[in-house]
Amino acid sequence: MHVVHTIGEVRAALATARSAGSTIGLVPTMGYLHQGHCSLVDASVADGHMTLVTVFVNPLQFAPTEDLAAYPRDLDADVAKVANAGAKLVFAPSVEEMYPEPSQTAVTVSGVSEGMEGASRRTHFAGVATVVAKLFAIVGPCAAYFGEKDYQQLAVIRRMVRDLNFEVDVRGCPTQRAEDGLALSSRNVYLSDEERRVAPVLHRALVDGAAMIRNGERSAEVVRTAMAATIAAEPLAELDYVEVADGDTLQPQSETGANSRLFGAVRFGSARLIDNVGVEAG
Ligand code: AMP
Repeated sequence: MHVVHTIGEVRAALATARSAGSTIGLVPTMGYLHQGHCSLVDASVADGHMTLVTVFVNPLQFAPTEDLAAYPRDLDADVAKVANAGAKLVFAPSVEEMYPEPSQTAVTVSGVSEGMEGASRRTHFAGVATVVAKLFAIVGPCAAYFGEKDYQQLAVIRRMVRDLNFEVDVRGCPTQRAEDGLALSSRNVYLSDEERRVAPVLHRALVDGAAMIRNGERSAEVVRTAMAATIAAEPLAELDYVEVADGDTLQPQSETGANSRLFGAVRFGSARLIDNVGVEAG
């Protein structure tokens, strides 16, 4: 395992790997890694790539009111976890390394980025697209692994790659969950014991909504109302949004179908958690 902090070092390490015949698998993260992140490393290693994990808490994707300063960090533990999963290289740049001067360039993706997380967090996806574009430019041709946990983010990245011709094969990987259904997230650390106990209500609302659609409910509004009611019944949960949208375009639906995807964002105290499920996969 090789841990590097500069763009020059990561490029040199990748050039060495490529000259030895390796292909590159990239797993971009903000660190404080858990089994969800490790499943992306597993997928990259299984595909036969020399796997690079990036650990960078990207200030651009946090609004001033959000949890940038509080975001949990533990690089030593992260390195141990991804080494164990078979990654060979960690790139953990400083903010100064990634943004030595205020950037005059930003990548904005319209359409898929506009609803849901894009509506609740206005500058979020421009921050994500910009940093991921920088990582793609630093790393070069690769397969890049992203979690379906952040389904809209995955759609934004896919669209950016298509529109800007990055030589990157974007791979979506299934959401890893705790036994009670809660999606694994670095932000779960913000939950009190009581909030952690009730937080699976988000996943339960989505799963029940998906079952309604499988059982023939065609009105997306009926499904949205049912999901919102499930969440409203939990006093510690504060609903941000629930949505039923097309799984490809992410446009809100009025009529549900096999391609519907169900999304939600809920606050539990200081933690804002998101999740989504498909109709068929559950
Ligand atoms: P983050 O560190 O939260 O920015 O996440 C880095 C990558 O890990 C993103 O592609 C996420 O979608 C993915 N990820 C985070 N949590 C999970 C999870 N529970 N299951 C699968 N992938 C995840």
